[in-house]
Parts: sequence; C-alpha cells; structure tokens
Amino acid sequence: MAKHLFVTGGVVSSLGKGLTSASIGLLLERRGLKVSMQKLDPYLNVDPGTMSPFQHGEVYVTDDGAETDLDLGHYERFTNAAVARTSNYTTGAIYGAVIRKERRGDYLGQTVQVIPHVTDEIKAAILSAVGPDTDVAITEIGGTVGDIESLPFLEAIRQFALERPAGEVAFIHLTLLPYLRASHEVKTKPTQHSVGKLREIGVIPHVLICRTEKPLTEELRAKISLFCNVPKRAVVEERDVEFSIYEVPLNLHAQGLEGLLAEFLRLPDAPALDFADWRAMLERIARPSRETEVAIVGKYIELNDAYKSIYEALTHAGVANDARVRIRKVRPEDIEARGAADLLAGAAGILVPGGFGNRGIEGKVAAIKFARENGIPFLGLCLGMQCAVIEFARNVAGLAGAHSTEFEPRTPHPVIDYLPGQEKVLDRGATMRLGAYACRLREGSTARRAYGSETVSERHRHRFEFNNAYRSALEARGLVPSGVYEGQDLVEIVEIPDHPFFVGVQFHPEFKSKPMAPHPLFREFVRAACEGGAATAARAREAVSTR
Ligand code: GLN
Repeated sequence: MAKHLFVTGGVVSSLGKGLTSASIGLLLERRGLKVSMQKLDPYLNVDPGTMSPFQHGEVYVTDDGAETDLDLGHYERFTNAAVARTSNYTTGAIYGAVIRKERRGDYLGQTVQVIPHVTDEIKAAILSAVGPDTDVAITEIGGTVGDIESLPFLEAIRQFALERPAGEVAFIHLTLLPYLRASHEVKTKPTQHSVGKLREIGVIPHVLICRTEKPLTEELRAKISLFCNVPKRAVVEERDVEFSIYEVPLNLHAQGLEGLLAEFLRLPDAPALDFADWRAMLERIARPSRETEVAIVGKYIELNDAYKSIYEALTHAGVANDARVRIRKVRPEDIEARGAADLLAGAAGILVPGGFGNRGIEGKVAAIKFARENGIPFLGLCLGMQCAVIEFARNVAGLAGAHSTEFEPRTPHPVIDYLPGQEKVLDRGATMRLGAYACRLREGSTARRAYGSETVSERHRHRFEFNNAYRSALEARGLVPSGVYEGQDLVEIVEIPDHPFFVGVQFHPEFKSKPMAPHPLFREFVRAACEGGAATAARAREAVSTR
C-alpha cells in the first residue's frame, strides 16, 4: 500500500511548490523508495494545452501525449517517477468526468454535488497516479490555500486522510516568510493565517516548509511552531538558492526533511544517504572551466517559464561539457527590424524553439540563415526545425516564397504542411500530434552520432509536418532528412552535414533531459558551441564590420 504525501501552498503563488515537491521525490528515492508524482491544478481549462505561454508558461508533454503543467518537468528532471496523463488533473478535467457520468446516468437519480461526487472524482484521480510498486505518492495541489477554486481539492485530501489510518498520509505546507527591509524583520503572520485557513478546512500540516531570503532563526522556528501547531523540528527552512535550483534538495536534506517524512509516514529506516553524484553535478554548475553563449530566438523570450525545459536542458548540457552556458535572449521581431548580424554577432550557438503563430517568423528564418551561412552551431526545435526547412528551401533550393501553410496558406511551396487529415480538425484542445514516437536515425548522421543508437523515442506537440513532396528536392541540395518516423514516413530530423552543427528536430528533446543525463542533442550542440564558439564568433564580428 502506497503512503501519500500532499503538498499545498500558502500566502502567494510562485513559491516553488513544484521544485519542492520534486526535491522531496528525489530525497525519498535516495532512501530507496519508489515515488509517484502528481499535480492537481484548480483552473477550469481541461489541460494547459490551449493556454498562451504568457498565461501558463511552457506546456510540458508526456510520453503518452498529455499536455501538462510545467511542474511535471521538474518531477521528471529530479526523480525517476513515470510521469503520464494521470500525473496532472485540472478542475476542468474533474468536472468534465463528473458531468459525463451524470449524462450517462451513472449517479442513479442522485443530486450531483461537489461533496461527495466531485471530491470522489478527485480522490479517484489521486489514486490513478499510484503505480503497483509505488511506496510514496506525492501530490501537489496547485494554487494557494484561501482561493475559492482550490477548495474542492483541499476538501478531497482532508477526506482522503480521514479514510486512512494514521501514518498513511502526511501534509506538507509550503509558505512564505516575507522580509521587511525597513524594519529588518522576517514576518510570520502571513504563514500563521495561511495555516489557520488550512486548519479551518480540516487539513493539519505535519511539516511547514518556509520560503525565506533570510535564515530561519531558532526564535522564528519556535514562534512558527507555537502559532501554527507544528513541532519545531518540522518547521523547515527553504532559503533562496545561490546559483542553481538543484541546490534545493540538498538544502532540505541538510535539515533532515526526508527523515522527518519517514517518521510521519512510518517508513522503514534507511542508511545515510549518498549525494556525491548530485554534489559533483552542482559543483560543475557552480564552477565550470569554460563558458559559451547561446542565443535563443523566441517569441515568448520575456517570460522565463515559457522555455523552462530548454533552459534546463542547456544547463544539463553545460554540466556535460564543463561549461557555463550563458543565454542571450533575442526577440525575432528585433531581428526583423535590425538584422540578424546586429543581434546575433558573437553568439556561439543559435537555438530557435517551438511556437505557434505568425509573429516573428521572418526573424527566426533570418536567424537560421545567419547560423547556416556563418557556421554557427544551430539547434531548431519543432517550429525551429520548420523554420530551418523554410529557410533552406528559399535560400538554398531556390524555392521563392516557400513557407508553412500555418502562416501562408497560399504559398507556392508549402514545404511545411498539415499532416493529411489535420486540416479538418476544428477542436483546438488535445488534437495535435502528441506524445512519443519512434524515430529511426540515418547511419553517419550528426543525430546518429549524438544519440549513439539507431532508434530513439521523442515527444511531439505540433500540427504541421515536413512536406514529403519536397523531400528529394531539398535533399538533393544538401538538407539531410536524418531521422524518420517510419510508421507514417514523417521526417523528424533535418541536418546540414557541411556545417559544424546544424540540426532541426520536429520533436521536443528538451522534455527528456536530466541534470545527470543530459539530452544527447543538447550536449552535442553545446559542445559544438564551446569548440567552434571562438572561431565562429570572430567570423560573425567580421560579417558585422564589413556590412
Ligand atoms: N506551430 C507548429 C505546428 O503546429 C510548431 C509547434 C511547436 O513548435 N510546438 O506544427
């Protein structure tokens, strides 16, 4: 029987509940336990797939094709938990299921109500993420305690604990201790109110994790313990990290958090935990021996959360190459206005991420042309790959006006086009090509060398595809389709062999990179940036000065 750990958040949003939950997952795994990870989101969208990145940040995709919250990315990067469709439910998904049952007549004439019908559905959702060998199931409740929309979820976890014997369920509440600069004081009142609110609902936290920029003094700990009804040793500090999010689990471990949880959940004793590998990884992030700079040309560049997994994958690739990867954020519209050379000169690598919609497309195409012509390592992800195909078609294969039908339905050369059948799909939610597909890699290609295997599996989220009608014409001019999904003969990877590193992929490799297991394509891209960086940067500067 799995034990359950629920993580709630108080005072404000964006406290890092996802990171904290993922860190707890890692600590428990290091104790030899098998964890499952789940997030319950109180908003009404059925999934975040239809939300703008400005609203929600990155949409994280699982192998089984669910479009989910970006916290699931943290879960996968920190733990070995199998993250899937059952790892993320929203209010919209829960109510949708209840309403479908009502229409089917499943409730046999009852009045359908939040308690018990919606809360039953939530409890079933919690259990759906638990695997047969799960020791501890960690469920994070999105939102902030006190919000109207999170009430059914909090009520459900209260019932969930009530229905089980002591020692089966523990509650962790993540809260904020604001520091008032004017009076040099760390304040506990918001935390007291937040815990009070939680207790009103009937959820009594076992552990409080306090986000703070100042150290948690003994005095503060005692005060919080007294006012919040939590033992002093269960008031845990989570201070702002110095240089990396991967410090969080070590900081929590230093305070014995996993031992505390083991006590509350009556888990078996464990020998001292070994974090030597994790520390070595952190050391490489803190003090790498070299540095490189990658320009990311993306439409949502102002928002850090929009490209979360990409930034993480670059950090992991930096660890593998003993390099700090500096990021230069470039808006494609600025390239349209001022030219690629002006904004990209000196960058040792250029990355064009995924995206939707017309804005900035020409700037991305110009960035890719600049990378191709100047021998600057290039990695294109999803839309970035599609733009690379457009650029090559126009500027190398001489197909004037080549475009994607997403942006120019009447283009004379639709080198990127709907997958047959997709043009008829009207629903926007969950109708793209989603989730894991196998990809066979061509012998001798850059991709094949990077992965070191013939077939790989990668995750997708897109509606448009490389148009096979142009495959031989483009290949004849030197654009190699080096990865193919054989099931439908779809081109998944394009590359240019006569270039230090030029790879575009239709899938999202960033979702499968971990700090200790960097993604091979990111690793090789950053390696190329480190090695070719100096030479290409010099060439690019020359290009600017002779312009
Ligand atoms: N907009 C493109 C498509 O739908 C690319 C999607 C993406 O980059 N995730 O195919």
